[in-house]
Amino acid sequence: MGVLEDFFVKAKEAVDTLGEKAGQFVDVSKLNIKMAELKNDMKNEYETLGKAVYKAKKENIDDDATVNYEVAQIDNLTLQIEELKKQIATMKNKVLCKSCGQPNEVGSCYCAKCGGELSCDKECESEKKDDFEDFDE
Ligand SMILES: [Zn+2]
Repeated sequence: MGVLEDFFVKAKEAVDTLGEKAGQFVDVSKLNIKMAELKNDMKNEYETLGKAVYKAKKENIDDDATVNYEVAQIDNLTLQIEELKKQIATMKNKVLCKSCGQPNEVGSCYCAKCGGELSCDKECESEKKDDFEDFDE
């Protein structure tokens, strides 16, 4: 097994355990690997479907069982891809805590789980400034 395939197997194993452990850190790169796999599966299913249809026509046989199975597989993969797209979109709108890995809403200044400071944008800076001014008065 090549290094690349080995990497993909390891990555796949990591993705397969996602969601099994509550609160486990999920990162977008793992979801993107999963997406690439699903798209590859989809390509393979289309190929299998194409061959089955070709063979059926060529040999003038009725292979509805294979065709129906492949259509169902493709529908199933389409659903999985849609679900994963939603997950990736959600993850992209989160700020991950550097201390505990908890995904927080963009614009949050502190982690909802451990209270750690999140990498701040301008919104946070102005909020801190306001706090300081209140304290000063
Ligand atoms: Zn945290």
